[in-house]
Amino acid sequence: MAADSSVNGPRGRALWARADRVLPAGRVYISRSARMAGDDVLPGFIHSARGCRLTDVDGREYIDFIGANGPNLLGYAHAEVDAAAATQAQRVDLPSFFPDVIVEFAERLLTWGTGFDWTVLAKNGSDTTALACRIMRCARHRPKIVLFQKAYHGFATELANRFENVPDDAQRHILRLPWNDAQALERTFAEQGDTIAGILLNPLDQNPLQETQSASLEFIAAIEQQRSATGALLALDDVRQGFRLHPRGSHHALGLDPDILCLGKGLANGYATSALLGKAPLREATEDIQFTATYVFSAVAYRAGITTLDVYERDRVFDHLEAMGTRLTEGLTAAAQATGHRISISGPPTMPTLLFANDPKAATARRFAREAALRGAIFHPLLNWFLSAAHREADIDEAIGIAAAAFAATPLP
Ligand code: PMP
Repeated sequence: MAADSSVNGPRGRALWARADRVLPAGRVYISRSARMAGDDVLPGFIHSARGCRLTDVDGREYIDFIGANGPNLLGYAHAEVDAAAATQAQRVDLPSFFPDVIVEFAERLLTWGTGFDWTVLAKNGSDTTALACRIMRCARHRPKIVLFQKAYHGFATELANRFENVPDDAQRHILRLPWNDAQALERTFAEQGDTIAGILLNPLDQNPLQETQSASLEFIAAIEQQRSATGALLALDDVRQGFRLHPRGSHHALGLDPDILCLGKGLANGYATSALLGKAPLREATEDIQFTATYVFSAVAYRAGITTLDVYERDRVFDHLEAMGTRLTEGLTAAAQATGHRISISGPPTMPTLLFANDPKAATARRFAREAALRGAIFHPLLNWFLSAAHREADIDEAIGIAAAAFAATPLP
């Protein structure tokens, strides 16, 4: 355990003091600010990272189960991906027109995403979800988009699920329905189906302070039914779950064939690129849309993406993630039981969520996360975690040992 009982050591605390003068480092960045977890629950500033380990500015090392909220699926500083990116950087990163590797990356994405015919490359997941809505509207000439309650789809005002200061009319074409409620879906389509361009769906209902819920068969069937009855399109937001529910895209796990697939995190192991994959009939709709942004055309990120997809397939990374996630969740469940804590771990083993019983405001979860951080492991108290290929059995076992001590140090609620 750290010598002082603060997660943020003297350098970290000094950086917070400076940050508070120059950055709105609290809520605006949501999960990317350690403050989301509470004050001094997680280390605020990271100095370096390798494999599954982070080192903070005070030189304290942690086994990390956040992985930057998804992108570092192969682990930080992956030698092969970084070498491919560095070689590309020597040649060119951001030229005046398309870097030649854009075609190779698009082709590689479409051999990975069988059944899709074209791709629009972007930078963040938010770009792809906003684009998906625009494409569905252009294709159907209808204004409304169906989303599900609490689902996060990025920072576009229209899609924001934090309503403060969003003008009422900014979301007037968004219909947010309860998850897994086939009747609500049917009712909405019965009343407004002729105005609905499409559905933007997350593969899971995975949000803070709740158990992750899979989509029920009845819900999936209702979505399919409304698609065929009304011509509404389906965009699957696989930005977070992509590569973690199924190695070829979460639609395979759900038994769905979406018109659009949104990919982001996990696509290039931390290099900034995202992609929207689409079906042939929608290609024309993209002609009515303008989408460009300066850094979308980074050849370095494309090259990293190609190598990342190759490594995923070659090393059967998904199987490893599942095995490590299962080992972790079994170990944590046993450790919690041994200390009398009642917990639930939900969601796929590759991205589990821990909740304590009778902990509506996550006070116990925050205390546990703090105790774990003090001992060298980072478990987010509010959000799902992310396993990576760099977590090996020894790391998982070490983390379980840390968690066991953290459970023991956390008072029962
Ligand atoms: N969709 C989902 C399901 C997400 O989890 C996220 C990011 N957490 C986004 C979209 C937005 O992606 P980005 O942060 O890369 O813009």
